[in-house]
Amino acid sequence: MFIAHLPAGYLLSDRLSQTRSNRRSLIAVGLFASALPDFDLLWFYFVDGRNTPHHAFVFHWPLFWIGLAATAWILARLLHWRSAEPYIFVALASLLLHMVLDSVAAEIHWLKPFSDL
Ligand SMILES: [Zn+2]
Repeated sequence: MFIAHLPAGYLLSDRLSQTRSNRRSLIAVGLFASALPDFDLLWFYFVDGRNTPHHAFVFHWPLFWIGLAATAWILARLLHWRSAEPYIFVALASLLLHMVLDSVAAEIHWLKPFSDL
């Protein structure tokens, strides 16, 4: 499944950035964000001892990324950093696509920390 995230992230970020002059950097952010949740595999293998499914970690909680993106968007607005907004949007879309794809093969806790669903 991990290998599918990069091509999917590329297709999504390519589509979302078609009319942008900073298209290449938006695609780079989309690629990075599409694989970012699986960086928790380092914790899974080297710290947790494979005791907890890595999809249960906070990096696989969609509300964590939505909250982080909302915080980044608010900061960008307060700091008048409008050019950051497309990056935040592409990153969040790629992160959520990762969760959708993972939902096919694993349990994603869409409402955590508020619910175990
Ligand atoms: Zn994943």
